[in-house]
Amino acid sequence: MPGYILIIDAMSNRRIHLRAQLDTAAYPVELVESQSEGLVRIRQDSPDVVIVADDLPGLRLRQFCKLLRTSSKTQLTTIVVAVQRENHSARISALNDGAYDVIEHTADAAELKARMRSFMRSKHVVEGGRRRAVPETGRELAEAIPDFIPKTVAVFVRCSQTDSHVETCCTLDPSTGIAARDIDAQTARRAPHKDTDVYVLVETHPGDEARETLGALLAHPISCHSRILFVTDARGPGASPLDLGAHDQVPSTVSMAELALRIQRLARLKRDAERLRKTTNELEKKAYVDALTGLCNRAAMDEYLIRTDRALAQHPRRVALLIADLDHFKAINDNHGHASGDTILAHVAQTIGSRLRDGDFIARYGGEEFLIVLPNVGLEQAKSVAQRLRNAVAENPKTIEDGTVVRATISIGLAVAAQSDQVSTAELRRAADAALYDAKRNGRNRTEVAHRDALHGVPFPKIKVRI
Ligand code: GH3
Ligand code: MG
Ligand code: MG
Repeated sequence: MPGYILIIDAMSNRRIHLRAQLDTAAYPVELVESQSEGLVRIRQDSPDVVIVADDLPGLRLRQFCKLLRTSSKTQLTTIVVAVQRENHSARISALNDGAYDVIEHTADAAELKARMRSFMRSKHVVEGGRRRAVPETGRELAEAIPDFIPKTVAVFVRCSQTDSHVETCCTLDPSTGIAARDIDAQTARRAPHKDTDVYVLVETHPGDEARETLGALLAHPISCHSRILFVTDARGPGASPLDLGAHDQVPSTVSMAELALRIQRLARLKRDAERLRKTTNELEKKAYVDALTGLCNRAAMDEYLIRTDRALAQHPRRVALLIADLDHFKAINDNHGHASGDTILAHVAQTIGSRLRDGDFIARYGGEEFLIVLPNVGLEQAKSVAQRLRNAVAENPKTIEDGTVVRATISIGLAVAAQSDQVSTAELRRAADAALYDAKRNGRNRTEVAHRDALHGVPFPKIKVRI
């Protein structure tokens, strides 16, 4: 059930009030009155958000949060604690115990719904990232090795001339582990500070620069990964800062202790997201990059060719496919050793790769073979590219470790499809392979072409590509 909210509260009037406030939010809301019932529902239905009353009989919030966080099914469930109005100590202890957020039992509809939308949005973003990074497991890789907690950098942004609040905020107790400083809104928009974990925007009156600064920070490449905490007392119509992209929102009456906890929580989320991005990039690199040459590997090539087939089936166009193979490479290995063979291979890969245009594709196809795809290229142009690549390799020898200059050459098989040829890349590969065989047979360091009329004297067969 997407966007499912579970409310656990022993007091029926409060449960019903919260449900009424969420009524038009289009999220299904379920109500239960005890912790045990709540846990059964959580295990069964994996709600996205659990709102639990802090005075629920028998509730030990820290254990409750830990229980949900350590199960792969519920680790992304957002735990929100509902507390009495203006009960600062209850708010702080809920955040300390691991709650994602705290609301008041009497929270109004606009605030509540904006918060729910914000929870759902961050949950979907995190879920999307995790699925990409670790397809088969529910466990987050980045969580496996904890980081030593670095200092959190918070930047308070002055959005009006008379922002005494910012000065107060910047005096955050050093024991919070937060390094706070302040900048004016214009500077924040133009040149946000690098390495800022959390920006705190304080809206002192409607129409000051806070909301414009929020948009600017979210759009700036330096600050777009930072978290933004919006301090405002504004209510009523108009989009909430949470809907505008702020990651958290508090009123100006927030206590310094709660502000510090919220800043630390946002900083933790930012670091988690960063780690996940890094892990994903590293995994992708391992999965798709050939370690020796730095080119795309076989898996990336297969993926690329599937996408190319889809694109060609939808919008037929000219395409050239080349297979280049080093000549007598076995002899290079035999004469100079395998390690020098590797050096030559990497050098040839670099020589070829650096001479292709943006939009062309190259992968290491086999041991000493490369597959190259040139989109939107006809026969004459493809032939001249092949000649350029071949000459580049032949004219750029490599000096190996023992000082010997090794001159490698390549042979190329080329297949070209016209826009009207509905051929799959498998067919082009088959044709290019046959042409490569001819190039080897006809003396090496040359290109042979298997364009549509040359291949067995007949056009490429029509291949239906499944989309
Ligand atoms: P031809 O001109 O007919 O292509 O001759 P060739 O010697 O290049 O072709 P053959 O298929 O006989 O040998 C390819 C050699 O490439 C054998 C294999 O050991 C070597 N090889 C494949 N991958 C690597 C690699 O990663 N590093 C090194 N050093 N050698 C490799
Ligand atoms: Mg070879
Ligand atoms: Mg070969």
